[in-house]
Amino acid sequence: MSTYKFYEQVNLNFDKAAQYTRFDKGILAQIKMCNTVYHVTFPVRRDNGDIEVVEGWRVEHSHHKTPTKGGIRYSHKVDEDETMALAALMSYKCGIVDVPFGGAKGGVKISTRDYSESELERITRRYTYELIKKGFIGPGIDVPAPDYGTGAREMGWILDTYRQMKDDLNAEACVTGKPIQQGGVRGRTEATGRGVYFGIREACNNKEDMKSVGLDTGVEGKTFVVQGLGNVGYHAAKYMTEAGAKLVGVAEIEGSIYDENGMDLEKLMEYRKDKGTIIGFDGTKELDNRDDAFYLECDILIPAALESQLTGDNADKIKAKIIAEAANGPTTADGHDIMKKRGALIIPDTYLNAGGVVVSYFEWLKNIQHVRYGRMSKRFDESSYKKILGVIENISDRKFTEAELESLAHGADEYDLVDSGLEETMITSYQQIAEVRNEHKLDDLRTAAYISAINKIGTMYEQMGIFP
Ligand code: GLU
Repeated sequence: MSTYKFYEQVNLNFDKAAQYTRFDKGILAQIKMCNTVYHVTFPVRRDNGDIEVVEGWRVEHSHHKTPTKGGIRYSHKVDEDETMALAALMSYKCGIVDVPFGGAKGGVKISTRDYSESELERITRRYTYELIKKGFIGPGIDVPAPDYGTGAREMGWILDTYRQMKDDLNAEACVTGKPIQQGGVRGRTEATGRGVYFGIREACNNKEDMKSVGLDTGVEGKTFVVQGLGNVGYHAAKYMTEAGAKLVGVAEIEGSIYDENGMDLEKLMEYRKDKGTIIGFDGTKELDNRDDAFYLECDILIPAALESQLTGDNADKIKAKIIAEAANGPTTADGHDIMKKRGALIIPDTYLNAGGVVVSYFEWLKNIQHVRYGRMSKRFDESSYKKILGVIENISDRKFTEAELESLAHGADEYDLVDSGLEETMITSYQQIAEVRNEHKLDDLRTAAYISAINKIGTMYEQMGIFP
């Protein structure tokens, strides 16, 4: 088994793309580096009274735009290299989808299942306190969000701790992915998975791309496999099945299952909640090894768990025609080359999973505007639509039913606006990176995505005064 250094893998992709840009090596080196790395240890009191030392990081990769932005990961695998790689990916991701933030990432080295809820709350609050003390959090400085092992609950604790320590009118904008009652935005929880679906749909609607892998256009009827049924994997699979794609395989920590006729995702989620495993679900076959679902015959493989999953060691066994990278860094550089050689279409992480940060951006805007989306326009729009429908009724014989009136005169609410903004971003960004790919005669969306990011960030650095 090869071992991969994650940050090095990200930089291999960066270097490959950098040769297609106009920047000199000083600017490129500046873009690549992590600007600030904060490593902290702090004591936490366990429920039984013991004191334990916990290790955490916050890395701000690029200050070409502020605030910096990126999630906080809780996992026993967290380390400095991983946090740096993930922070760098955030900068590139924000560049690709035109979100005006620099990249950052945080991590706490704990396995969440080993701690009670109150212990997790103490860890989160203490970690936040350490970030505040060193100036690593704030609406205009650095804005965390959920990542693997964290969610709205942790973001709520972060906001509450920040608010207790700081007298800041914009305090709500210090973190995103919060519960709605604490200033969160509707649609944030499902945003990454929803964006993954929009990105896959865009690729599947692209005639050239589908021709290159020998598939018809459209999501409907395509078979797919997902690795990881966490927030991102579950939501991506949900929107894929709703659009008519067939879930034929799932890989999770406990093993892999397969059903060529497709499985019912909601029932599978219920089964797992009940039994603690996906194994044995409703007529599915259990595969021999944990990750064997990777190697199934299918149209689309969606790795939605952790980094370095499709590598030089196993990429030659993967048969999927499309690799849709919902996770951050699931494919190593050698794994990528092997799958490309076979002719696979790889929809890269830096584009495909950017839906989370796109909607985080909408949440942050909502918080600094101090007003819910749609609050001032919804009713006004509805009455305008009703007037127009009334005119149509007057000049024609057509009478609208109550149900028709309700749906035709629906004014956009917060969820509608967020979802439409996300959809627009995923469509436009796909077109942008496909254009860069054609311009440079590449056959590879990952390199195109990096070129697009480097061009945007590099231009900012060129314009920036470099002080003596
Ligand atoms: N953790 C997510 C990611 O990797 C979201 C980051 C954010 O919303 O700031 O993209």
